[in-house]
Amino acid sequence: MPIWNPRIETAPRADIEQLQLERLQAIVNRIWERVPFYRRRFEELGFMPEHLRSLDDLRLLPFTLKEDLRRGYPYDLFAVPLREVVRVHASSGTTGPPTVVGYTKNDVRHWRELVARVLSAGGITKDDVIQISFSYGLLTTAFGLHQGAEEIGASVIPVSAGAVERQIEIMQDFRTTALVGTPSHALQIAEALEEAGVPRSSLHLRWGMLGSEPWTEEVRAKIENRLGISATDNYGISEVMGPGVSGECEEQKDGLHINEDHFLCEIVDPGSGEVLPPGETGELTITTLTKEALPILRYRTGDLTSLHPRPCPCGRTLARMARVFRRTDDMIIVGGVKVFPSQIEAVLAEIEGVEPQYEVIVDRSGPVDKLEVRVEVSTHLLTGDVSHLLRTQNLLAQKLQKALGVTTEVRMVEPKSTTGASDES
Ligand SMILES: [Zn+2]
Repeated sequence: MPIWNPRIETAPRADIEQLQLERLQAIVNRIWERVPFYRRRFEELGFMPEHLRSLDDLRLLPFTLKEDLRRGYPYDLFAVPLREVVRVHASSGTTGPPTVVGYTKNDVRHWRELVARVLSAGGITKDDVIQISFSYGLLTTAFGLHQGAEEIGASVIPVSAGAVERQIEIMQDFRTTALVGTPSHALQIAEALEEAGVPRSSLHLRWGMLGSEPWTEEVRAKIENRLGISATDNYGISEVMGPGVSGECEEQKDGLHINEDHFLCEIVDPGSGEVLPPGETGELTITTLTKEALPILRYRTGDLTSLHPRPCPCGRTLARMARVFRRTDDMIIVGGVKVFPSQIEAVLAEIEGVEPQYEVIVDRSGPVDKLEVRVEVSTHLLTGDVSHLLRTQNLLAQKLQKALGVTTEVRMVEPKSTTGASDES
């Protein structure tokens, strides 16, 4: 597969790090001069831009939270006057005011380049016909991927989100070779094709550039087999740019190459904020190195992943991040141990008679945190042999304890009696 920008994407790591340091120093100076929000933070911490002498000094800088962007709604954190902004996007704001992001002409130029790199890594070339089935609107996803695909010179069909039948019709008539959308949308298309008895060979589809929601290797295999395509994952977050932060290479599909000349990534402990070494899982934190309109320092993404700087057999030297399956919002800390609902769900799925519905209760009233999992079981199991019920309960407690690393009490309850939530007391 061709590499879009080999000069950067295959550069020696020392060169990448030198460039990162130079860009970090420059952007911190600009922020100091232009963004009062950050200047106040710097002053509170006793930080001056000249304190930044190595990439390790990044940890002297303050974190930025989604809350900070919300409080600055709409333009408080911008580092340029609006007349220099050529584009504005915003998040949906389902749980509060939306976060607003802006781009200068240079920002948009960089964005196109970065998405072009990610799409190229996923297999796309100028010969492809790309169907974008993300919604066009205030969100960054569709526009970001669209302009990167144009940068490559591919033919872009901005079909937007919508009925699966229409997507398939366009896919057949316009001879689409690459589908850009969510993994669940790709699965819906596969199902609809099978239901309608449309043979895979009637499509020209070869690539799937999928993202915007967590998807497992299992789902990838399903999509690839059923649609007869090669599917890659890519990652972006609107607060730092949108799509174009990182993407898998088609050759390896083993981690997403980060565009490190524009984004400085750290993994931090979600609880303490301490920086973790390569390979360890924690919260992805991103500093923008080139953003003019809205430069962001150490943005806490809430996404859990790990970083891997070793070179990739594809030829790229850009570090890789592991695929994102979990977020810090899902995490519960019990006695210092991180517990994820997905771990509990995996154990429940193994045991017969146990329903997928459950409730987690953390009791923090005593000297030691206690974790209780209330699990719904089938009426059949509840009204049957008591010794069987107890055996199942013990087995479940043992398995959960092993998987989570914390002592877990299990209570079997009737179907539909849990709230399906986690609770703390
Ligand atoms: Zn690679």
